[in-house]
Amino acid sequence: MRTLLTLLAAALAGPAAAADKPNIVLVFTDDHAYQAIGAYGDRRKLVDTPNIDRLAAEGVRFDRALVPNSICGPSRATVLTGQYSHRNGFYNNTNSRFDGGQVTFPKLLQKAGYQTAVVGKWHLVSEPTGFDHWHILPGQGRYYNPPMTKDGKQVQHQGYVTDVISDLSTDWIKNRDKSKPFLLMTQHKAPHREWAPPLRHLGHDKDRKYPEPETLFDDYAGRGPGVRDQDMTIEKTFTQLDAKLVPPPGITPEELKQWDAYYGPRNQAFREAKPAGKDLVRWRYNRYMHDYLGCVKAVDEAVGKLLKTLDDEGLAKNTLVVYCSDQGFYLGEHGWFDKRWVFEESVRTPMLARWPGVAKAGHAEKNLVSVLDLAQTFLDAAGVPADPGMQGASLVPLLKGAAPADWRKSFYYAYYEYPSPHRVIPHYAVVTDRYKLARFYVPKADGKADPDYWELYDREKDPHETKSFYADPGYAGTVKELRAELERLRKELKVPDEMPKEAFGSLFAPPKKK
Ligand code: CA
Repeated sequence: MRTLLTLLAAALAGPAAAADKPNIVLVFTDDHAYQAIGAYGDRRKLVDTPNIDRLAAEGVRFDRALVPNSICGPSRATVLTGQYSHRNGFYNNTNSRFDGGQVTFPKLLQKAGYQTAVVGKWHLVSEPTGFDHWHILPGQGRYYNPPMTKDGKQVQHQGYVTDVISDLSTDWIKNRDKSKPFLLMTQHKAPHREWAPPLRHLGHDKDRKYPEPETLFDDYAGRGPGVRDQDMTIEKTFTQLDAKLVPPPGITPEELKQWDAYYGPRNQAFREAKPAGKDLVRWRYNRYMHDYLGCVKAVDEAVGKLLKTLDDEGLAKNTLVVYCSDQGFYLGEHGWFDKRWVFEESVRTPMLARWPGVAKAGHAEKNLVSVLDLAQTFLDAAGVPADPGMQGASLVPLLKGAAPADWRKSFYYAYYEYPSPHRVIPHYAVVTDRYKLARFYVPKADGKADPDYWELYDREKDPHETKSFYADPGYAGTVKELRAELERLRKELKVPDEMPKEAFGSLFAPPKKK
């Protein structure tokens, strides 16, 4: 009798029960700032995102979702492996290459009977592994008429990249093998630089003058040399392509006519007015917001189409949908675009999750979570054991609104890529609900570091992170505690004392050809 029960249990846990396992959809965008999502309520009210907001209303909005290393490739490698860069080996976008032989959550789901697919931006140099189907952009990809690689073969697509990825993703859902549960990673290029919006959204903001962030004209006083030395300001680093003073690549002559109808007269007015100094920064900031938010609108439409497809296919109830970006982004804060820094706008990413019947609808979760946790979350949702090398934790209890009492109170952050592009000084840090303690350093060939300095930010006293309290005697106790916590985290996460030289991008070696 016992044998019979065991057999029965094994049969139920096997492929026969696969139809009961939840489907998993990860909508992963590139450089989507939480400030540009309606549900996060930025004071500037930059854009309406009714479809992404639906995930917040029907699911959980994570208010402090952090990334371990705030750039594209490293964040993607972390999502797949559930590990920090120093464990999965993908440190930077300059010369890292993803080792596809390592354990990833799609591989574990595939082994457990899931049908797996990735569509859109991949950006990990090596070919995807652990997917039954992959259809990806080469490298950064192109906004208009993007070439892609489908299961190893080159294909040329017509249309706007977000729409192409959206259509390929929903078509894959409709044509899936219905005998299996599925994992779909639908990964948008948008709203990554050069933030080229679809033609249908040109003029979407009716030439709005956008409210400025408090730190658009940050003078970088009160902090070390790193914030002054960077190369990512709207003032100095913005290109002709960023400003749409030249058209984006891949656009057809027909499309260019529509593009010119919008940008042409406005660019002409700009050339005649010749704004300079702060007026030039303001002009660029408004152009940037028009373009970036136009991209976001298309991403939101793609989310709408995806949710409708899940509804139409009768899949909504049994599907965990997570919306997340690979990191945050500066929308003019500190005078910047781009990411990389431990400062809030880049270290924090939007994250929303809907799972009817499991995730508590309308819940806003304040605990520190991360893209590091996604691998273990998806495996937990599928009832598949995580790999012991994974370094995050399942978010399933938090989705239910019941964070474990011992949930993390601090988070380790590390950024490496230097000096190109954007010359952001490497740093590592501990982040808590209130504080950030960071060490900034440039490694030298002899193993020493220069410059080497520490900063402490207090988001309660200084929400825009415009000064360091590290040398303030009143913070001596806080600094001591946080330094101890940082060391504890580095030990727990097995961070080596000295990083391999290739971690630092082009600092010690020229970028590799890809
Ligand atoms: Ca990115």
